[in-house]
Amino acid sequence: MSASVLVTGGAGYIGSHTVRLLHQQGYKIVVLDNLVYGHPEAILSDEILLVKGNVGDKNLLRTLFDTHKFEAVLHFAAYAYVGESVTNPSKYYHNNLIEPLALLEVMVEKKCLRFIFSSTCATYGNPVYTPIDENHPQLPINPYGSSKMMLEWVARDFKIAHNLNYVFLRYFNASGASHDAQIGEDHQPETHLIPLVFEAAMGIRPNITVFGTDYDTPDGTCIRDYIHVEDLATAHLRSLERLLQGGDSLICNLGTGNGFSVKEVIQAVEKVSGLQVPVVYGERRAGDPPALVANASRAKQELNWEASYRTVESIVASAWKWHNSAWKGRYANKK
Ligand code: UDP
Repeated sequence: MSASVLVTGGAGYIGSHTVRLLHQQGYKIVVLDNLVYGHPEAILSDEILLVKGNVGDKNLLRTLFDTHKFEAVLHFAAYAYVGESVTNPSKYYHNNLIEPLALLEVMVEKKCLRFIFSSTCATYGNPVYTPIDENHPQLPINPYGSSKMMLEWVARDFKIAHNLNYVFLRYFNASGASHDAQIGEDHQPETHLIPLVFEAAMGIRPNITVFGTDYDTPDGTCIRDYIHVEDLATAHLRSLERLLQGGDSLICNLGTGNGFSVKEVIQAVEKVSGLQVPVVYGERRAGDPPALVANASRAKQELNWEASYRTVESIVASAWKWHNSAWKGRYANKK
């Protein structure tokens, strides 16, 4: 396949893994990334054009669409710090909703009508039932989730008005790193559990605080559905193929269907790394539901997609390979 695609946020965590896979599959790729959180070094091939810019820059977009004749857009670019979205909602509505609205408008103008969007289980809010399927009510409890849900609504309305075809991929907890540890999770600042536990194990931070031990779960700590980043990349490839082949719009959860507790993640890190993790047991973090687990059967049915990393050990082992090698370089300077 040699279709030309635009990937916004392609220098970010999930974007860069997807770009790598699409490039291996022969797609012509332009990455548009403002590099606020993205890493240019996560684009592993010179054949991929990296353009530094904003998703809301219509003049830049028009030039890119005219030059590269994109057949589809994969839209990853977003801010994703839930806590910050509560204290600074404007930043999130601007970046995650208003700017992508400009992108959708240019897509319609340039008749590029295939849109694959990184949505999130945060659009569901507190689960009413679990596992969560795509028909679960969407009642987000923070501006991050709201901004993602609202962009889904915009794209849905663009389908009705302009025949835009979309796939919304609602990720559960993205995790892990590339199988060869070339790229991986590298958020600055880091707020996610698995990298923080590794940093505690490696002495980069003094400890990991477990947010709450009195949840109604078997060990009292929160349960999440950790989905490997390369599995997410594969789901994007399948979604792209679907739309290029003329398939219908689709909304899919992406998870393994298995939940693991915070304590299980910490145990897996200790097992895989052979290091001891200094743990502090703390208060609950506001807005954390006890358990978030996907029902991902629609992705299997519609995209022929299933997670290949299914155990907490396999996901954590992949993250460990990356952290252990990255640590020798950049992390060493942080000590
Ligand atoms: N968590 C924790 N300590 C931390 C960070 C996270 O106990 O320092 C817990 C958090 O309460 C949640 C799980 O780990 O239950 C995953 O959190 P993360 O921030 O990685 O992802 P989220 O589920 O919030 O998207």
